[in-house]
Amino acid sequence: MKDNYQLVIIGGGPAGLAAATTAANQGVCCALLDEQPTLGGQIYRAIESIPKQRTQQLGDEYTRGKPLVTAFRESDTEYYPETKVWSLNKQREIGVLYKDEARIIQADQVIVASGAMERPIPFKGWTLPGVMQAGAGQILFKSAGVVPDNGVVLAGSGPLLLLLAWQYLHAGVDVKALLDVTPLSNHLLALPKLPKALLAHHYLTKGIGYQIELKRAGIPLLFGVSDLRAEGEGYLQKVSFKHFGKQKNIESELLLTHFGVIPHAWLTQSADCKHQWDDSQQCWRPEHDEWGNTSLDGIIVAGDGAGIHGARSAEHAGRLAGLEALFALGIISQTERNKQGIQDRKWMKDERYIRPFLEAYFKIPQSLLATADNDTIVCRCEEVTAGQIRDAVKKGHDNSNQVKFFTRCGMGSCQGRQCSNAVAHIVADEKGESVEKMGHFRGRPPVAPLTLDQLACLNKELI
Ligand SMILES: Cc1cc2nc3c(=O)[nH]c(=O)nc-3n(C[C@H](O)[C@H](O)[C@H](O)COP(=O)(O)OP(=O)(O)OC[C@H]3O[C@@H](n4cnc5c(N)ncnc54)[C@H](O)[C@@H]3O)c2cc1C
Repeated sequence: MKDNYQLVIIGGGPAGLAAATTAANQGVCCALLDEQPTLGGQIYRAIESIPKQRTQQLGDEYTRGKPLVTAFRESDTEYYPETKVWSLNKQREIGVLYKDEARIIQADQVIVASGAMERPIPFKGWTLPGVMQAGAGQILFKSAGVVPDNGVVLAGSGPLLLLLAWQYLHAGVDVKALLDVTPLSNHLLALPKLPKALLAHHYLTKGIGYQIELKRAGIPLLFGVSDLRAEGEGYLQKVSFKHFGKQKNIESELLLTHFGVIPHAWLTQSADCKHQWDDSQQCWRPEHDEWGNTSLDGIIVAGDGAGIHGARSAEHAGRLAGLEALFALGIISQTERNKQGIQDRKWMKDERYIRPFLEAYFKIPQSLLATADNDTIVCRCEEVTAGQIRDAVKKGHDNSNQVKFFTRCGMGSCQGRQCSNAVAHIVADEKGESVEKMGHFRGRPPVAPLTLDQLACLNKELI
């Protein structure tokens, strides 16, 4: 790894791959860093090594990643797998952990294509062994072919839940039930957005197709579920919930939950890029223009890390970010950038017709976002409960960061990734204010754990 690059891309998903290929094909000296051992990001994870049978079980959307990865491999981008970026600052100094050694590299331009993560929502019993996020189940399936062998209950809200149920069905997994906690009132709220969504009807037909197949296979799909709880002595034994007012239980040792995805914005937050609250997507995202430029010179964002728009949109945004970097580096003119970006901008617009409908349909209700019982742990690293967060607010700590200082929530090894949103929602609810006003945890390097030894051996000092 060199000390300086013209362009560094963080993330090897569709956005990062497209950005890197676009820039490298014009002769830019660029490096792509990804903490994962394989290319493809979340959606196309392990696409180069996966057995054919598993590819079929994952569906045709998965195979779209093949040409992207092939084009990337044919480019001259330097690719560093298993390389974690733990810091990014205004001067575009990038802290990386590469082969167990922490070092700082410098880039003229940086494209942050760090993707999304599942929105963690604390609920009764969510820390019991046997309760995991659906994305984790899918990661095990994609990367290692590991599936539940003793049945699974899927619960939550969002398209990924339906997709995973379908993928598990094709892999022969016993899906005991899919419990959809999306409020039925959302259907009405989403209705006005349906005509525009029909312009991207392939997503709707795919979702309906999955539901039909799951129903035909006899998998119970329960809509309008509430009061989800994971119960058991020391490990998950049953999932309890209400369905149309009736209390129900399903015995299961595995519950996979999903409540939508939010941008992986820790690096842009620690660099101090401006962020804004997106009410429709219920998350913070970096402010950016149509080419991905953030509020900081030379830091560009692309893909789900810039706001949730899905994999195909991420690919287009990645190419546009690559063109922007070429323009900023003086390799192409603005006119050339605009010309080369025409198709991607059009396709990206087409892809995004579906989003307002999906966002309204799968809007997570306040009853889930902010009403964890007082004894439910919200910050898993520091074991801070919802009750302790509420107490801190009552004592006068009136935004997310003050509550963090007072309770230590968000100060553990995940640095708030798991609890930042939940804390903001609980504080906002307790104060009767908007989440936007409560702010997000201030990002600080290192955004990922490092040992003192690794820090002490840095190749240069951070500015
Ligand atoms: C768990 C999960 C599963 C998903 N599965 C599907 C699916 O099956 N189908 C679908 O349509 N959509 C899926 N999505 C949504 C999907 O992730 C996106 O739409 C798409 O992958 C976005 O592409 P991207 O390039 O923006 O980011 P991603 O594909 O997420 O790629 C981002 C990459 O950045 C890397 N990265 C992040 N931070 C760092 C860091 N600090 N240092 C180094 N590397 C870093 C990550 O390892 C990752 O490889 C999933 C999302 C999640 C969270």
